[in-house]
Amino acid sequence: MALVVQKYGGTSMGSVERIRNVAKRVAKTYDAGNDMVVVVSAMSGETNKLVALANEVCEFPDNREYDVLVAAGEQVSIALLAMCLKSMGYKAKSYLGFQVPIQTDSAYAKARIEKIDDAKMRTDLKEGTILIVAGFQGVDQSGSVTTLGRGGSDTSAVALAAALKADVCEIFTDVDGVYTTDPNICKDAKKIERISYEEMLELASLGAKVLQIRSVEFASKYNVDVHVRSSFNENLGTMVTKEDKDMEAVLVSGIAYAKDEVKIAVMQVPDKPGIAAQILSPLSDANISVDMIVQNVSEAGSTDFTFTVPQAEFKKALAITQETAQAINAKEVLSDENVSKVSIVGLGMRSHAGVATTMFKALAAEGINIQMISTSEIKISVVVDAKYTELAVRVLHDVFGLSK
Ligand code: ADP
Ligand code: ASP
Ligand code: MG
Repeated sequence: MALVVQKYGGTSMGSVERIRNVAKRVAKTYDAGNDMVVVVSAMSGETNKLVALANEVCEFPDNREYDVLVAAGEQVSIALLAMCLKSMGYKAKSYLGFQVPIQTDSAYAKARIEKIDDAKMRTDLKEGTILIVAGFQGVDQSGSVTTLGRGGSDTSAVALAAALKADVCEIFTDVDGVYTTDPNICKDAKKIERISYEEMLELASLGAKVLQIRSVEFASKYNVDVHVRSSFNENLGTMVTKEDKDMEAVLVSGIAYAKDEVKIAVMQVPDKPGIAAQILSPLSDANISVDMIVQNVSEAGSTDFTFTVPQAEFKKALAITQETAQAINAKEVLSDENVSKVSIVGLGMRSHAGVATTMFKALAAEGINIQMISTSEIKISVVVDAKYTELAVRVLHDVFGLSK
């Protein structure tokens, strides 16, 4: 007998029919003799609707109440799935985050899981009950509902698998696994059989939303093998696992893109020590994460300072930066929402030179201008005009031989 954690995403839970399909799959695994903990997301589109409501009510929704609101979608899903299983004759029980409890910090909308108390779950599992846990949510020290950031149900699932020392952690989604790039924008994308935590972490943080970043961090920290697969067929998917020798032989293993970043530029900033910190500190104080940063070569004692922030935090970031710009006597603040970040990722890049050149040449050949660049040991990212996103992804997919 094994302990299996399965997670079903929004599309897989997207209608009553699909919830029935999930119930059947869960029942099948249970009937095979396994203990089961099932994590589910809100039905597709529901979380977006709740976010839109918050933004309609006010410009800067209160963080605590925002989480109370957006956590609601998962409450619906767990109840429906548990009802469905019970009507099929199974023992099932739904759990909200605070009922587990899944303890988090108080960083609303991007809370981190700190501890999971498995006592109640263990008791229920012993009695043969199938546990249906709401993904994406937890509870902080003060008892307030928290959420883990968009796509956070993946993290709930991996964290539960780690806490319960589950034998299997399966993430069921609407694609067959992790592909060389988003199969929904590149028809030549290929399924990857095995991928290292490190590469998956980069792909996820660079926009491949098939797994939430934190879920991969958890998996890597607690050595949880994560099997990403489709809820619509029986195919084996992708194993996200520890690095092995074969993996490093691959130069570029995947291409990711992110359209949800916005560029903010502070023009003609006096070029003197401490300026970067002065611009960025108020943003980090507001818990806004800045991604790419570029500072131009200074001309006549002033320079332009450009960075990107998540689209969801754009309004707040712009307001804060405008205030700073005045305080430091910068000329003006410009912003551009029509940008996207395209990245290549691969363990093999550690030991090969010339990858950047190949990437930049391929983009140039298509007339795609590179606005910002950032690199790490196993990735290169560029910011380009958003209208070129798909083209850039396809060109890079071809030039690095992933389409073969
Ligand atoms: P779920 O609702 O099941 O959590 P998501 O929509 O969050 O599903 O994630 C699955 C989606 O991730 C796919 O439909 C696909 O469009 C997208 N995606 C982006 N990059 C990749 C990739 N490299 N491999 C597979 N899917 C990807
Ligand atoms: N329902 C949440 C979201 O849409 C969490 C998830 O789907 O993983 O972001
Ligand atoms: Mg998801």
